Amino acid sequence: MAKDETLEIIDLHVSLADGKEILRGLSLSVKRGEVHAVMGPNGGGKSTLAAALMGHPAYRITSGSVRVGGADLTTLSPDQRARLGLFLGFQYPVEVAGVNFASFLRQAVNGLKAEGEKKLSPIAFRNQLEEAAKGLGFSEELAARALNVGFSGGEKKKAEILQLAMLRPKFAVLDEPDSGLDVDALRHIGAGVNGLDYPIGLVLITHYQRILGHIKPDFVHVVMKGRLAASGGPELAAQIEQSGYEGFR
Ligand code: ADP
Ligand code: MG
Repeated sequence: MAKDETLEIIDLHVSLADGKEILRGLSLSVKRGEVHAVMGPNGGGKSTLAAALMGHPAYRITSGSVRVGGADLTTLSPDQRARLGLFLGFQYPVEVAGVNFASFLRQAVNGLKAEGEKKLSPIAFRNQLEEAAKGLGFSEELAARALNVGFSGGEKKKAEILQLAMLRPKFAVLDEPDSGLDVDALRHIGAGVNGLDYPIGLVLITHYQRILGHIKPDFVHVVMKGRLAASGGPELAAQIEQSGYEGFR
C-alpha cells in the first residue's frame, strides 16, 4: 500500500501558550478506508488533538510528529495540510458574513486543485453540490446563505459533512459531529459519511456510542489525560456505554 495511505500521529505532545501540556505522547495510525472512533471523558484532550492536527495556533506541538504519506505536517500551514489531503472543516472563523456557503466552498474546492488541473465551473460545481446535499437533507436555501451565519447546530454539522463530501480529503478528523443533533440529523450525517464514494481515513471523536450505530468504527480508542488509555474494536465502545470510563483510570 502506498505510503500516503496512512495518517500517522507519533508520540504527539501538545501544550498551550502558558506551557500547560495537554497531549502527553499520543500515537495513532489511521489507514485510508478505516474509521477510528476516539472516545474519552471530558477534558481528556480529544478536541486538542483535532485542533493540533488542523494547525490551530493556540495548540503548540512541542514534540512528536504527524505524517501524511510520510511527510511531516507539524510545521505546515493549515492550507498546506489541506493540500496533503487532511480535511479541515471551516471552523475558523465559525461564521463568515457576506460570503455565501456555496461560493466559499467552490473557492475551497478549486483552491485545492493541483496546478494545471481543471477548475470546476459554477454550473458543474452546483451540480456536484446538489448531489452531495441531497443525502444530507441540506437545502438549497441554506447553501445560498452566508457561511454558517445563523446556522443551527445541526446545520453547521451538516455543512461540515457537505464540505467533506465536496473537498474529498484523504483523511478527516470530525470533533463530535453528533453533539446536539436530533435523530434525523444524526442519520443524515451517517448517510453523508457512508455515502462517500472513495476510501477516507476517519478519526471520529465522540462521547456517545449513538453515532457509531450509523458510522461503524473499525477501531475504538479511549483518550484520557492526553494519552491513549485503551484501544480495541467496536466492543470497546459497548463496554464504555455499559461501565463508563472509570475502569480505564
Ligand atoms: P476534550 O475534547 O477531550 O473534552 P479538550 O481537548 O477540549 O478535551 O481539553 C483538554 C484540557 O485542555 C482541558 O483541561 C481543557 O480545559 C484544556 N484546554 C483545552 N484548550 C484550552 C484553551 N484554549 N485554553 C485553556 N485550556 C484549554
Ligand atoms: Mg472536546
